[in-house]
Amino acid sequence: MKAIAFGLPKLGEKREFKKLLEDFWKGNISEEELHAGMRDLALWRADLYKENADVIPSNELSYYDFMLDTALMVGAVPQRFGEYKGMETYFEMARGKSALEMTKWFNTNYHYLVPEIEREEFKLFINKPLNDYEFYKQKGYETAPHIIGAYTFLRMSKALRRKKGELPLYEIEKIEDRDQFERLTDKLVPVYREVLESLKKAGCQRVHIEEPALVLDTEDWQWDIVEKIYSELSKVGIEIALFTYYDSVSDYERYTSLPVQALHFDLVSNKENLQNIKEKGFPKDKELIAGIINGRQPWRADLSEKLRTLEDLSKLTDNLSVSNSCPLYHLPVSVEPEEDLPEGLKERLSFAKEKLKELRVLKTAFGGDKEALKEVEATSKLLEVSFGENAEVRRRITALKDEDFRREVPYEERDKLQRDILKLPLFPTTTIGSYPQTPEVRKMRTAYRTGKISESEYKEFIKKQIEHVIAFQEEVGLDVLVHGEFERTDMVEFFAFKLDGIATTKHGWVLSYGSRVYRPPIIYGDVSRPKPMTLEEITYAQSLTDKPVKGMLTGPVTILNWSYYREDVPKRVIAYQIALALLDEVSDLEGAGIKIIQIDEPAFREGVPLKRKDWQEYFNWAVKAFRLSSRAKPQTQIHTHMCYSEFNEIIEYIYQMDFDVISIEASRSKGEIISAFEKFKGWDRQIGIGVYDIHSPAIPTKEEMKAVMERSMKVLPKELLWVNPDCGLKTRRWEEVEPALKNMVEMAKGLREEVMAGV
Ligand code: GLN
Ligand code: ZN
Repeated sequence: MKAIAFGLPKLGEKREFKKLLEDFWKGNISEEELHAGMRDLALWRADLYKENADVIPSNELSYYDFMLDTALMVGAVPQRFGEYKGMETYFEMARGKSALEMTKWFNTNYHYLVPEIEREEFKLFINKPLNDYEFYKQKGYETAPHIIGAYTFLRMSKALRRKKGELPLYEIEKIEDRDQFERLTDKLVPVYREVLESLKKAGCQRVHIEEPALVLDTEDWQWDIVEKIYSELSKVGIEIALFTYYDSVSDYERYTSLPVQALHFDLVSNKENLQNIKEKGFPKDKELIAGIINGRQPWRADLSEKLRTLEDLSKLTDNLSVSNSCPLYHLPVSVEPEEDLPEGLKERLSFAKEKLKELRVLKTAFGGDKEALKEVEATSKLLEVSFGENAEVRRRITALKDEDFRREVPYEERDKLQRDILKLPLFPTTTIGSYPQTPEVRKMRTAYRTGKISESEYKEFIKKQIEHVIAFQEEVGLDVLVHGEFERTDMVEFFAFKLDGIATTKHGWVLSYGSRVYRPPIIYGDVSRPKPMTLEEITYAQSLTDKPVKGMLTGPVTILNWSYYREDVPKRVIAYQIALALLDEVSDLEGAGIKIIQIDEPAFREGVPLKRKDWQEYFNWAVKAFRLSSRAKPQTQIHTHMCYSEFNEIIEYIYQMDFDVISIEASRSKGEIISAFEKFKGWDRQIGIGVYDIHSPAIPTKEEMKAVMERSMKVLPKELLWVNPDCGLKTRRWEEVEPALKNMVEMAKGLREEVMAGV
C-alpha cells in the first residue's frame, strides 16, 4: 500500500509565502529573489512529502492561484491584459485594476480566480506542469504533477457567450450550454494532451489530475464530455490518477469506468463513496486511492477506525493507497507552535504536517509495523476520553421545543409594535456595522494583545472611537446608528474569543486567496457564553445618543461556517448551541434598552451543500439556528445582513428566517436581485438593498444611489425599503466614508420629500 498526500499549504511554517509575495509587490525584493524564495518553499514541501509519503506531488505551488495557472497553461488570457509580460501580467490578472473575478472554490473558504474564456481557442502557453517537473527532477526528486482537469477547468470558468437579442450582445458567464461546453472541450483536450506528452517525454510516469467538479450535480451529457476527455488523454500512455473531493462522485459507475489507472475518493465528507465501493465493487485493473484522512477539519484521526476501513477496502482491491480526503491547504501548517490552547486540545489536533504523519503511520501500521500499531492504539485510546462536554448546554439543547424556534407573534404584529416604538421615517438610513479600521485602531489592538497597553487603556481608546463614530453619524443625519465595531478584528474571531468551547490559535493561518490569510477558530466543545460579549460597547454607544443604536452580533450559521468544527456531534447541534449563546446576548441587550439587533449571516449561503439533494436538510437546521438566536421580544427589531446577491435560488429559505429587516448587497447585480423579488410572491419584510458598493473607493453619487432605490420601488412597496451601503465600512477610509454617507443621507431625504409630495 502506498501513502499519497497532496495539497500541502503553500504558506510555509512562518508564512514565508505571504511575506515573499507582499515584499515583491511592495518592491522590497526583486523578481529573482521572489523566484528564489519560491524555490525554497518548493523544496521544503518536497521534503515533507518525501518523509511521509510515496509520491511527491509537483505543480502545486502557485504564485497566486492554481486556476489562474491553469488558465495560463491553456492560454486563456483576456485581451484587456494585452501582451503577456511575465510576472507583471500575471499579477495584473490576479489583483490588478481589472483583475479576474474571484469567487469561492466549491464550498470551501478558499477563493479562486475565475478564468475568462473570450475566444473558443486554446494553445499551450505556459507549461508549468512540465517546468515544475523538470525543476524538481534537477534537484533529484521524481514527482507526479498535479493538474486541474479539463472538465473542472471548464466547469469553474466563465466564457463569452452570445446572448439572444438584448444588449450587451455578449456576456461572460458560466458554461452551461451543452454545445458550447462541447466545442470548448474539443479545443481544450489537445492542449492537455500536449502537456501530458511533454511530461512523458521528460520521463514523468504519472500525473495526478484533479477533477473535484465531478462531485457536483453532473448531468449525463457532462459525463459524456468527461469520458471523451479521458479516453483522449489515456492515449498518451502516461499513468493517470484522478482526484475528486469535497463530496462523493456524482456517478460512481461512470467514474469507475473511466479509462485511467487510479481513482481517488473523498471518504470522509459523507458515507456515499464508501458505500458505493462496498456495494458496487471496485474495478480490478485500477488503483483505489482512499482519501480517509480529513483534509478540511483539524482533528487527529481515530487511527484504529481508519485502519479497519483500510482493511475492509483491501478485501475489495489488490491495489490500495491511503490518502487525504481533499487538499490539505484548508488547514494551517502545523500544531507544533501553538502554546495557549485549552488544556487537552493540542494533542487532539492535527494540521497539515500532522496529517502527513498520520498517513505514514497508517501505511506502516497496515504493513504490520509494531511501532506504528502501537501508535494507532495509543491515539484511539486518547480519543476515547470525552472532551469539551458541558452538561448545562446539553440540557438546554435537549429541552428545546418547537416554540423556541418561533417568535411570539407574527411579523405583521411585530411590525406595528416596532414602528410605534422606533418612529423611523420613510426610507430609514443606516450602515451595516463597521466603520474604518484605521491604522491607529489596528495598532492599538495589537498593542493590547501583545501586552504593550493595559486593558483599561485599550477600553478607553475604544470608547473614544465610539464617541467619535456616534457624533459622526448624528452629524451626517443617519436614522439608525451603529457602534462601529472597533473592538473586533474579525466578526467571527471576536465571538470565538468570548465563547467557551471555541478555541483560537496564534499561528493557525490559512490562505483565503492570494497572500490573504485568516485564522479559523476551532469549535472543539459544547459552546456557551460565560458572560455578555457585546453589551459594554453597545450600551455605551446607546448612552451617547437618542437615536437607536443597533446591537451587532454574528449569526450562528456564519460562526459555524467560518470555523473548524467538531465531528462528534451533528452540525445542527453545534449551530443550536451557538444560537443559544447568542440568544442570551440578545436578551441582555434588550434588558439594557437596545431596540434593534442585527445578526449578521454573511456565510449563510456558504454552507449550502454541493448537491441539490442535500439542500433541504441544510436549510432546515440553518434557518432554525438563526431563528433560535433571534427569538427576541416582539418589540425588538431583528435585522440580518448578507453580502451577496445570488439570492434567487435560496430566497424561499431566506424568507423563512423570519427577521424583520434584511440588508443585502446588490451593487454588482442589481437586476438579478430585483428579479428575485419579482418572482417571490408576498415578500413583506423590510429590506435594505445596498445602494453603493463599499468594495470600491469611488464616492457614489446621489443619482447612482437613487437609481437603485427607484429600481427597488418598482418591485417592492416603498414602506419596506431602507437605505444603506452594501456591507460594512471597515476596509474604507474616513475620507471616502464621509462624503459617501453624506450623499446617501441627502439622497434618502430628497427621495422622501419627492415621494411624500407625490412626485
Ligand atoms: N457587521 C459587519 C460589518 O459591518 C458585517 C460584515 C460582513 O457582512 N462580512 O463589518
Ligand atoms: Zn457584508
